[in-house]
Amino acid sequence: MLFQCFHHTEQVSVLMKVIQHSVQTLQTALISKRHDLVELYSKYTREERRLLEEGFQADQLGSLFQPITVHSDSDWIPAHPEEPQDFESFYRDPYRKTPDSNHSTIYIQTIGSFGEAGAQTDQYVEWLRDYCQAFFYGLSVKLLPPVTVAETRCSFRINSNSCNLQILTGDLLRFLEKRKPKDAFCIVGLTMIDLYPKDSWNFVFGQASLSSGMGVFSFARYDDNFYSRNYAGRLRKQLQPKQGDYSVFDGYYTPPISSTLLLRSCKTMTHEIGHMFGILHCQWLNCVMQGSNHLEESDRRPLDFCPVCLRKIQVAIGFEIAERYQAILRWIQEDQSPTSHQPVPHFPKPTEAFHTSRLWLCRCLDILQSI
Ligand SMILES: [Zn+2]
Ligand SMILES: [Zn+2]
Repeated sequence: MLFQCFHHTEQVSVLMKVIQHSVQTLQTALISKRHDLVELYSKYTREERRLLEEGFQADQLGSLFQPITVHSDSDWIPAHPEEPQDFESFYRDPYRKTPDSNHSTIYIQTIGSFGEAGAQTDQYVEWLRDYCQAFFYGLSVKLLPPVTVAETRCSFRINSNSCNLQILTGDLLRFLEKRKPKDAFCIVGLTMIDLYPKDSWNFVFGQASLSSGMGVFSFARYDDNFYSRNYAGRLRKQLQPKQGDYSVFDGYYTPPISSTLLLRSCKTMTHEIGHMFGILHCQWLNCVMQGSNHLEESDRRPLDFCPVCLRKIQVAIGFEIAERYQAILRWIQEDQSPTSHQPVPHFPKPTEAFHTSRLWLCRCLDILQSI
């Protein structure tokens, strides 16, 4: 199954609609009515259940989990009607993938440059790796040695409208298939270069093959300057690079590393890996697994799961909820000053954009750790 999370549509109209589910609907979505799943749910501690059931109060001001607000017809839910997936339908899906002791590693493969300075590139990718390991707590996340665009032998083009370099997703997925280690739960290709899935398409944010546990995603459009007139990734129109001559990628523009870019990258990466477990787009509450049709909608998504999706990932991996929140919080708060362990030069992790998420995690931990 091929899966594309993002398409680009124009804004058509403005409407704000809150998707308000009844407590009963949310209860069934989270706990289910199946006897064995109710039983399984009762194994959570009282504190864990209190946290998960915070979602039932989503209509209250200041609640930990908020209802989904549809801002316009171009938002994901009105643009792509899908069957909602509750915990039960996830649980009984025979095609969903669960990590096992022989397939418990998430591999990250970077393609092309990730920053102007080499050391900063390495650092950025390390942050993504560490974040991913906290987020999918209990699995190990490894970086494969980085590859250049040339090494993937992929097709590329200069987009005739935006005039930026783009690489072909299908070729990258074929490349990843060959690189996928035996013990991989999944392999994820990340690049700062824009992607296209076929000639007739303008672009795509990413593409995944769920059945084979592979995906490739680009952060190019998470650059605040991408849609500006003086975007530095624009090339001269008359430049017509030959296929197979990858010299055009040498020194090609990459987005400056900022806190917003890091936040957007972390969200996209974990959303996409979430799909690898068989979690479909969330329609219950504000959630990292909500579908997104455009950047503004991606930015509205929170960093983490709603209770329904949290239960899905918890059952798939088997972590303790509090330990996972602590790991993510540690990643946000980690000492950013240079230490003797850090290679020189050291770049501080820009986590300003994670401030709201940090406060949110503290509130969740307060509930989980109350005696
Ligand atoms: Zn998606
Ligand atoms: Zn959700």
